Amino acid sequence: MKRTQGGSPKRAEVLAFVGLGSNLGDRQNNIRTALDLVDSVSGLSVLGVSSFYECEPVGRSDQPDFINAVANVRTSLSPRSLLKALQGIEKRMGRAPSRRRWGPRLIDLDILLYGKELVLAPDLVIPHALMHVRRFVLAPLCELEPDVVHPVLGLRCRELLRRLRSGVSRESFSGQSVRVAVQ
Ligand code: ADP
Ligand code: MG
Repeated sequence: MKRTQGGSPKRAEVLAFVGLGSNLGDRQNNIRTALDLVDSVSGLSVLGVSSFYECEPVGRSDQPDFINAVANVRTSLSPRSLLKALQGIEKRMGRAPSRRRWGPRLIDLDILLYGKELVLAPDLVIPHALMHVRRFVLAPLCELEPDVVHPVLGLRCRELLRRLRSGVSRESFSGQSVRVAVQ
């Protein structure tokens, strides 16, 4: 499959998955606000949302636990336009620019999958580079669409989660505790 820069202006609608995370302020409300804002973007609609999961932080443990969720969206935006729209929402919600990778954030919106498309650019990688080793991504994604296939690895979401649980693949950081949060 060919990787693209993701820039073509006119597109048919594509089903994509967006990961949402928050570990500052009213975390559940932040996720809900972000979902409303995503749904309000022209050319972007939210089809479904997973449960909210309470998760230990990955990468840096010196910060509050996250609430994570995954949304299934339908979009006519290009991958790059979708990224810009999500970054606009992060900014509008007051996410402060940070140089600290994996640090605390009011809202984090990531493109996990964009149909079966592959994108490899300096500022955009689809499928999301770490989605296959992150329980806080795979658990909500599997809840929504267990048979969705990772287009690079050629494995279904349920298989990726099974591998992660059995230790076949592993995240090289801590933070694997994930439980469904009360909504
Ligand atoms: P994190 O990796 O923890 O989500 P940020 O949200 O700060 O960190 O994102 C850092 C950069 O990751 C963004 O500036 C964006 O350009 C880039 N990026 C690469 N691939 C993706 C993707 N699939 N979804 C969202 N951002 C991405
Ligand atoms: Mg992000």
